[in-house]
Amino acid sequence: MLGPLPRSGTAGPSSHGLTLVFVLGDQLTRDLSALNGLAPGDVVLMVEVADETTYVRHHKQKIALVLSAMRHFAAELRAEGITVDYVELDATGNTGAFGTELVRAVARHRPDRIVVTEPGEWRVRRMMDEWPALTGVPVEIRDDDRFLCSRAEFRHWAGDRRSYRMEFFYREMRRRTGILMDGDEPAGGRWNFDAENRKRLPKGMRSPPRPVFERDAITSRVLDLVASRFADHFGDLDAFDWPVTRRDAVNALDWFIAQALPRFGDYQDAMAEDDPRLFHALLSPSLNLGLLTAREVCVAAEQAYRRGDAPLNAAEGFIRQILGWREYVRGVYWLEMPAYAETNALEAERPLPWFYWSGETEMNCLARAIMDTRRHAYAHHIQRLMVTGNFALLAGIRPAEIEEWYLIVYADAYDWVELPNVHGMVAFADGGMLASKPYAASGAYIDRMSDYCGRCVYSPQLKTGKGACPFNLLYWDFLMRNRQKLEQLPRMAMPYRTLDRMDSSHRETIRSEARAFLEGLAEPGTKMHVATQGDLFG
Ligand SMILES: Cc1cc2nc3c(=O)[nH]c(=O)nc-3n(C[C@H](O)[C@H](O)[C@H](O)COP(=O)(O)OP(=O)(O)OC[C@H]3O[C@@H](n4cnc5c(N)ncnc54)[C@H](O)[C@@H]3O)c2cc1C
Ligand code: SF4
Repeated sequence: MLGPLPRSGTAGPSSHGLTLVFVLGDQLTRDLSALNGLAPGDVVLMVEVADETTYVRHHKQKIALVLSAMRHFAAELRAEGITVDYVELDATGNTGAFGTELVRAVARHRPDRIVVTEPGEWRVRRMMDEWPALTGVPVEIRDDDRFLCSRAEFRHWAGDRRSYRMEFFYREMRRRTGILMDGDEPAGGRWNFDAENRKRLPKGMRSPPRPVFERDAITSRVLDLVASRFADHFGDLDAFDWPVTRRDAVNALDWFIAQALPRFGDYQDAMAEDDPRLFHALLSPSLNLGLLTAREVCVAAEQAYRRGDAPLNAAEGFIRQILGWREYVRGVYWLEMPAYAETNALEAERPLPWFYWSGETEMNCLARAIMDTRRHAYAHHIQRLMVTGNFALLAGIRPAEIEEWYLIVYADAYDWVELPNVHGMVAFADGGMLASKPYAASGAYIDRMSDYCGRCVYSPQLKTGKGACPFNLLYWDFLMRNRQKLEQLPRMAMPYRTLDRMDSSHRETIRSEARAFLEGLAEPGTKMHVATQGDLFG
């Protein structure tokens, strides 16, 4: 049971001398704990550092989004009369790293203390431990109370479990927050309406037009900077259209609730070649930057249901993603890191195929998902899980390489949310700590949920031989390769029974065709040669 815990790390008005409040690029929330109790004379520090733009070679749109949103946030604080010391990426003397920029800021302002909100990433949290010695100034690290479940509360819920299940955590969160509850009971008498949320998109149905966010002078300057300085990073900038201020993000939320939420549930798992974003919210970049809070987004969806503007399967399905999955993966991340990232339960060791960067593959579903990702720095959940993720799982791609790809290519990608989704959900590299079985599927699933297969050179109906969908070969081959590790999982019993009913010559054909296909992925000199860090393109 998640009990209420005292909020630690918040402060009243400052009883100190000058405080230097350091706000990170994904902490753009006016009531951030570090900004709590700001006194006249205190200085807010914000820095754009090269290290953060290049520790992986992020999609150009992701860099542009973070920098533009940071610059807008700084302008809003200044408009309130707050002193902001803002160091731009190209500023003279910018040393390119958090620690050394703090040292320079301490020399400029001579603060008595530094206050920060805990970061989203383990990597940055480790850096923070060095800051007191580096700067010679005490550093107060406050809780990030923008999440609905604190790290301590999650730890309490997890207890000494060896594996965690989202569904039970989610029910606790519903009870604890009262969101979508009628007294002690879940609204509509059920916790989960997922079974109703798996419809294929009917022919001719299209999503409503999305709002356009005008590029102002700040965003235009940032886009020019990114185009020239990060020309060799993955992705296009042309279609950049992300909210960069709280006002834009609230407009995006309002649009979603009114226009898309009513159909979100029904078509949550559908994929359509000409309408890739369908009824999804596209709110994750705003949530992860802090332009929106998880609570306000959940409350807005609940209110739409209570008003009768959205059906329960839509509101519940949407709220589950945020109150459930988003909080859950963050809890697992902080509980299990850093060891979590090191496991490789299925001993997957194949390098990432080149087509993950270029989109050059004849598999239409993968080509579409990757090209959409290049253009928009976005793909919706099922494209990530059941197309690019499913292929990586079935092909046995090394978890660290898949993780790096996902961290690079999406505008919403931050380690705390990307890593558990990829390491646990996609790669099953944690051996089932996060998911009760691998999300593995053959071509039949993709055919059922999308219109990709109709325009593919392969056929989802063919199981082997010329023209057989590679997902079909790889699915059964994956089960055979990993039998020892997977067959004891209760939810894998049925696929293994089906496999055992196949005659042995059919199984051998699958095995040899899958092997030939996988060897083809790594052939040097073909379009599918292996991606290396220095080999990315614009
Ligand atoms: C392999 C893989 C990698 C992912 N990497 C990221 C990532 O780096 N950053 C990220 O924010 N999400 C990630 N997700 C979760 C999810 O795919 C995205 O949050 C979602 O696609 C964002 O688009 P949306 O706002 O249109 O989402 P919607 O489909 O409209 O969902 C609403 C919101 O629910 C939240 N959400 C949904 N699913 C998850 C989930 N599994 N974990 C956490 N939050 C979730 C998001 O905040 C999202 O905005 C990943 C999922 C997978 C399978
Ligand atoms: S046939 Fe197979 S490879 Fe082609 S789009 Fe369908 S699932 Fe993808």
